Amino acid sequence: MKRNMICIGCPMGCELTVDVEDGKAAAVSGNNCGVGKKYAETEISAPTRIVTTTALTESGIPVPVKTCSGIPKDKIFDVIAAIKSVKITLPVSVGDVIIENVCETGAAVAVTKSCTQ
Ligand code: SF4
Repeated sequence: MKRNMICIGCPMGCELTVDVEDGKAAAVSGNNCGVGKKYAETEISAPTRIVTTTALTESGIPVPVKTCSGIPKDKIFDVIAAIKSVKITLPVSVGDVIIENVCETGAAVAVTKSCTQ
């Protein structure tokens, strides 16, 4: 089976064609560098995503946050629910971790913009 996808490794957006055998990428073409090959292999076998969203403070102010590494694609909604259940106490600084190992993914969730009030 062949799958087509666009590499998100850089703005070039190479159009990749992946030969899939037994749930794995047997061959990748269309990539201009090794990042594209690795992206295609991961996307076929265990796709991950960085989640960016907002968490609320106790007073309802939204604070931008993101996962510090990719999480399994099928856990995105669980991770967002976990983030929405947290109430942040201000002040916070960029990089402050609000959840360690969110949903047992191994990824932390950290603040991406400092907020004092
Ligand atoms: S394959 Fe390489 S050059 Fe092409 S989009 Fe991905 S990272 Fe960029």
